[in-house]
Amino acid sequence: MNAVEVLAAPDTDVWGDALAELAEVVEILGYDDGIHAMLAAPRREMTVSVPLRRDDGTIQVFIGHRVQHNLSRGPSKGGVRFSPHVTLDEVRALAMLMTWKCALLDVPYGGGKGSVSIDPRDYSVPELERVTRRYTSEILPILGPEKDIPAPDIGTDERTMAWMMDTFSVNQGYTRLGVVTGKPVSLGGTHGRATATSRGVSHIALAAMRHRGIDPVGATAAVQGFGKVGHDAARFLAEAGILVRGVSDQYGALYRTGGIDIAQLGEHVRDTGSVVGFPGADALDRDGLLELDVDLLIPAAVEGVLRADNAMKVQAQVIVEGANGPTTRVADEILADAGCLVVPDILANAGGVVVSYFEWAQAHQAYWWSLDDVEKRLEKRMLDAWRQVLDYSAAGDLSLRNAATSLAVERVAEAHRMRGLYP
Ligand code: NAD
Repeated sequence: MNAVEVLAAPDTDVWGDALAELAEVVEILGYDDGIHAMLAAPRREMTVSVPLRRDDGTIQVFIGHRVQHNLSRGPSKGGVRFSPHVTLDEVRALAMLMTWKCALLDVPYGGGKGSVSIDPRDYSVPELERVTRRYTSEILPILGPEKDIPAPDIGTDERTMAWMMDTFSVNQGYTRLGVVTGKPVSLGGTHGRATATSRGVSHIALAAMRHRGIDPVGATAAVQGFGKVGHDAARFLAEAGILVRGVSDQYGALYRTGGIDIAQLGEHVRDTGSVVGFPGADALDRDGLLELDVDLLIPAAVEGVLRADNAMKVQAQVIVEGANGPTTRVADEILADAGCLVVPDILANAGGVVVSYFEWAQAHQAYWWSLDDVEKRLEKRMLDAWRQVLDYSAAGDLSLRNAATSLAVERVAEAHRMRGLYP
């Protein structure tokens, strides 16, 4: 049994979908089984126990993972997710998506991803610090600015990255700013990183709408998820003249025909922790948000939200995937049949990894760029990648997802070929 067969029995859809997408692209590119197996198999996986002494003195043990999917184009790069539901297969899938994303945006990394099976909302800040430091020290042998560079993801933030950087540096005996990205600006972070993913989503959304002949000014949108990606994506879209009619988080959703005031909603969320109860809009069924009559839909929450059971109810003409893996393969087909343009995650939400690359490059140079520099370079990289994917899609008559993955897989396979197989 080869590596593809071993890995082809996933127990979560997102990993099965990632492998199926790769298999489809390998077929399009005409690669042999050997290259397919090399591209499918995660290069390195580490599972660790993360014991925590709670504030009340009791001990609890969490499971942590770090997966390095591919290292052919450089060190692995990818977020750390704190979530009680996370599985190893999900981490593998997200690491694979990172490999394609880094190759597509031509940043010199492979894909990685990490997780701890904790719900951060149930723990105090000192407890979260202890968990983060213990997880970091457990995976220390495979971390480093030239080996594997984590970043924030669901349930983690710049403070988590500061703790990870400090734990790594204390163990090295000197400060290694380049070991993580998404750090606070006061600690070697870069201007523009906090909003980079959302800024990139908004650049791509505007380009995709224009490509579809929709004038963004006065067009309508719905955004699922009001976290690090969704909040600022909604803000940037509103600033570009789009009426953001619907917004949701895990607790509920909101609707307002004339557009929701995102700045005011942001204050409400800062005060209450949720979009629910915002006086400036009507309450809506949480999952009904995906079916709103809008031009643009941005799923920016979790994976697998657009599925066989709801895809046919989607009315948006353009979907821009702010989240990783929000559309299942079956939903993708239904949406394509309905004529909906789906811009895939590896392109749409790549702004974060692009500016992470800028942060890492600045840390290596110890020379800091202005916000203007960062944002101009980000916009150029996102729009260059958008045009490359559009051209590839037109040339091969492929969906944007197949085009983006093919382009990325070609670059990774080329790196494999140029390096050769050791020994
Ligand atoms: P986050 O934890 O900051 O925010 C997640 C948001 O989604 C929260 O508002 C949460 O309440 C909401 N949510 C969760 N389940 C929901 C549901 N069923 N319906 C509606 N809302 C729901 O996380 P984030 O960093 O914003 O990441 C969101 C997605 O974007 C993830 O898929 C992540 O992997 C992806 N992503 C994030 C970045 C980044 O820079 N943060 C970069 C690329 C991709």
